[in-house]
Amino acid sequence: MVGLSRLIEYKHLDPEALAASGFFYAYPGSAVIDLAMTTNDPSPLVVFDHPLIAHKMKIIRDQATEHRPFRATLSQIAGLMVFEVTRSFQTEAVEVQTPVTSTMARQLVGTITIVPVLRAGLGMIHGILEVMPEARVGHLGLARDEETLEPIAYLNKLPVDIDAGPVILVDPMLATGGSASAAITMLKDAGATDLRMICLVAAPEGVARLNKDHPDIMIYAAALDERLNEKGYIVPGLGDAGDRMYGTV
Ligand code: URA
Repeated sequence: MVGLSRLIEYKHLDPEALAASGFFYAYPGSAVIDLAMTTNDPSPLVVFDHPLIAHKMKIIRDQATEHRPFRATLSQIAGLMVFEVTRSFQTEAVEVQTPVTSTMARQLVGTITIVPVLRAGLGMIHGILEVMPEARVGHLGLARDEETLEPIAYLNKLPVDIDAGPVILVDPMLATGGSASAAITMLKDAGATDLRMICLVAAPEGVARLNKDHPDIMIYAAALDERLNEKGYIVPGLGDAGDRMYGTV
């Protein structure tokens, strides 16, 4: 039950309805967490509750924020999320010689791969690589058909040994979940087994879709919003992340 104790409140939504819907949303120490802890379901969602992340989310939600600060802030949020997302990564004991003596230390096992979904996922990469510069970067290009809202793959460039370590799928907006589900299928088809997803804003519909299609995948979100609108945008959301990031609004 990785991460359950870290599930965080999000004030718009009804905890009991969310618990009943099959993913968890709870105040630390609340009855909902106790309820979740008694089930055998995986814990698919961690929503961050951190003052710095909340402050930066306010900046990128603000429609007055222009593309340069938007891009920088989005990248910073992704970097801040890395500490929690990597908590389950395996380490091994190694001996190290300090200037004073030899001691045992720990180092990460395996090669980390980050996979942004183009185009908006690219905006999170810089912040993540600041913290994990050794990580490799694969790329998945998925465009959303604006009528069906279904994803169309146009690029799949991944390391051949993608399962050499943990894989982090990166896409700022988990909206319908169609692209994320397709991306996870592509990663699993490529051999990834140790896989999780980071997004900035998740819609309940997207979380539910991933939980249904890929219940083994842990989702880390900076915010869980209310819903999707009729055009597939997250409400309240932040608009089109790619357009806002690259100034193509
Ligand atoms: N993609 C975005 O960039 N924004 C949304 O609100 C939904 C999908």
